[in-house]
Amino acid sequence: MPDELDLAQTINEQFLADALAEHQRNRPTGPAAILCEECGEEIPEKRRRIIPGCRRCRECQTVLENRRRCR
Ligand SMILES: [Zn+2]
Repeated sequence: MPDELDLAQTINEQFLADALAEHQRNRPTGPAAILCEECGEEIPEKRRRIIPGCRRCRECQTVLENRRRCR
């Protein structure tokens, strides 16, 4: 059944493309924030340099990621 295989392949590729687009939407872009979006504390320059587009301090980012994982 080559047609069914093709269809499965197409669906899989679409799924991957969607997942990738979603991932890129969620990734912060642009210049890093100087102040944390969550708590307003200054984000250390070192952190801003190693994480492009970083918007939160380490504490807030950790809290956010833990919250996402639990959901
Ligand atoms: Zn913060």
